Amino acid sequence: MSTQELLNKFDELQKKLYAFGHAQMLLNWDGSTFAPEKSVEGRGITASILAGETHALMTSEDTGKLVKELQAAEGLEEKDRRNVEIFAREYKKLTCIPAKEVMEYTKLRAEAEQIWIKAKTDNDYKLFAPYLEKLIAFQIKFAKYIDPEAKVYNTLLDDYQEGLTMDTLDKYFAEVEKTVVPLNAMVAKSSVLPRAKEIKERINAKGFDKEGQEKLVHALFKLQGLPEDRCKIAVSAHPFTSGANTNDIRYTVAYHEDNIASAIYAALHEGGHAMYNLNINSDYNYTSLDEGASMTMHESQSRIYENNISRSKNFNKHIYKLAKDIFPKQFEDITEEEFYIYCNYSSPSLIRIEADELTYSLHIMVRYQIERMIFEDKVDVMDLPEMWNKKYEEYLGICPPDDTHGILQDVHWSFGLFGYFPTYSLGTAYSAQFEAKMREVIDYDGALEKGDLTEITSWLNENVHKYGKLLIDDEIVRKATGKEFDPSYYAKYLEKKYTEIYG
Ligand code: ZN
Repeated sequence: MSTQELLNKFDELQKKLYAFGHAQMLLNWDGSTFAPEKSVEGRGITASILAGETHALMTSEDTGKLVKELQAAEGLEEKDRRNVEIFAREYKKLTCIPAKEVMEYTKLRAEAEQIWIKAKTDNDYKLFAPYLEKLIAFQIKFAKYIDPEAKVYNTLLDDYQEGLTMDTLDKYFAEVEKTVVPLNAMVAKSSVLPRAKEIKERINAKGFDKEGQEKLVHALFKLQGLPEDRCKIAVSAHPFTSGANTNDIRYTVAYHEDNIASAIYAALHEGGHAMYNLNINSDYNYTSLDEGASMTMHESQSRIYENNISRSKNFNKHIYKLAKDIFPKQFEDITEEEFYIYCNYSSPSLIRIEADELTYSLHIMVRYQIERMIFEDKVDVMDLPEMWNKKYEEYLGICPPDDTHGILQDVHWSFGLFGYFPTYSLGTAYSAQFEAKMREVIDYDGALEKGDLTEITSWLNENVHKYGKLLIDDEIVRKATGKEFDPSYYAKYLEKKYTEIYG
């Protein structure tokens, strides 16, 4: 077969896989937003058949043969070569593990999730520990199949961000520890904190009806510059973004009447994810290149809109104006400055998903250090809760009263997701480096002041979004900023912001 014929065949295969993926996406979207509660059984049947068909197609002999031929083909363009490379990695991951072990693992995962729910409810870590131990053992075994030479934890990290290693994360979290731990201690002792707390409680107590919040979220959609003919918003219990291609991206928001900041920042965060997906080069639709470079890069784009842009003093006032227009009565006695403090309230807390911009990375640092110890130092799972609590005491200055509010709080490990957490935090550090570069090349602060994000979004489109998965994170950061990834940008950003507000 000629190279062109091979590529045509590959295109046909990828479109078929896209179709299965598209159907699964819609099914999940429907399940999270609109489907009646009792539809769960029927949707489950469809989902498992679609997943089975996808797996069979991905791992078939024909697919394996085609991948091999494409890898050997000559004269592939850069985008085709990379498309084949990503697909081949995925194929290898799916086929290198014996089917029997995959089935055992799938069964274990389903059990572990149920046990985790019970353990969390009953504050009973001992119940979950043996499952955690087995999940870890499977991760080690699977990582060895994928790459027998590599360190297990590096292989796990690579799953969420191609090329990510402990070396990068050790340097990154050393910077976080050096910067955020003292900043957090400063905020906790700050004389501004009681006032910030009073403002927060006063605003939340006013109550914001769902209809008004929906109007506000729509106004933020426009302020962010998202296209109405390619992007839609719905409501779900937990906000998320999904999509099929660059003409069809959706995200969700949850509304809480006693916390207007929650919907505002969820909308801007998910809007940032959506902005990324909408602006990937549309030539990459229906191929392996049609997603963000990594989980980390995706978080860098959600957080640059959520934090760097929307929690800045210059831009925050535009959000204030929109909120005041929609809720004139509630905002009668709230000043622009108070609203800014409200949106930047910081206080150490036990629960990761409730953490503020400053303390969030400390929660991730604890998880990273523990995961690293699990896979590098083979610690006993029974020792983990004590380690967890000590680290919270040391870094955040608070100690969980029980494991429910400590090591059992996150679902990730019960799903077998190890190496996932660091991406939540590392992306924030990319955002700071991108922001610093934008300040050199465009009138960044002027744009925020005007409330016009066109120029900022164009820079992100051109320097981050358009690549999709064509490049890995390190290459994107280097091309966009002219420098290697450098966590000191993040340290400087946090120091400046939090000493200004709380110093
Ligand atoms: Zn996100």
